[in-house]
Amino acid sequence: MMLEVQDIHTYYGESHALQGVSLRLDEGETVCLLGRNGAGKSTTLRSIIGLTPPGRGRVVFAGRNIAGMPAYRIARMGVSLVPEDRRILPGLTVRENLEVGQYRRPGLQPRWSIERIFDEYPMLAELAGQDGATLSGGQQQMLAVARSLMSEPQLLLLDEPNEGLAPVIVKQIGELIDALAGTTTILFTDQSVRFALRHAKRAYILEKGRIVHEADCGSLARDAQTQRRYLSV
Ligand code: ATP
Repeated sequence: MMLEVQDIHTYYGESHALQGVSLRLDEGETVCLLGRNGAGKSTTLRSIIGLTPPGRGRVVFAGRNIAGMPAYRIARMGVSLVPEDRRILPGLTVRENLEVGQYRRPGLQPRWSIERIFDEYPMLAELAGQDGATLSGGQQQMLAVARSLMSEPQLLLLDEPNEGLAPVIVKQIGELIDALAGTTTILFTDQSVRFALRHAKRAYILEKGRIVHEADCGSLARDAQTQRRYLSV
């Protein structure tokens, strides 16, 4: 088991955003967290990585309870989040943005380097010297994911990686997720089911801070009623 989230409750002040969320990811699995706007998807990812630490419950990553640890320590243990707004550093080139992401975990053979990123994603190689702020939304999304890979994550959290992107880029993000499957455990969020069905094995559906449905993507594809009830279709 790579990740086991056990009954977490997360608060924003008085507001009880996550009301007992539990989920599990096996090593190398790609899982999608679905739900409408405000359901708690981002908060779940932020709770896992410690940006909004859960007030209750456990987050067991690679056998250790990381709930309550500071986010930078969780990141160093091998969890990486690509936030919805991507956080590309303006004033730094594409290459420099990748350098900033680099983190080598002691005792772990590095898998990623700038050369490998440029090899696998030639689009980024072409943009290497360009200011990250001048990139299109899709190019920024590719860069944000690549920068995350530079930190050698075992668990990659992607918050709505497709939001607002052109179909050609969505396809590339999907291919990237597929290529990582098996070697990197991935939890990504989405509001609708189409992309998840193509690229994830299982899905959890969140509503109002609770998991209301869990299914393998094949059966969710055939379950129009659940899709209508909980998702944007
Ligand atoms: P979205 O698609 O909008 O990102 P989401 O499913 O990711 O939706 P969250 O962003 O996790 O949902 O929000 C869950 C709940 O927590 C919502 O009711 C939201 O209004 C609330 N919330 C999120 N961020 C904050 C914050 N910084 N302060 C107060 N409440 C917040």
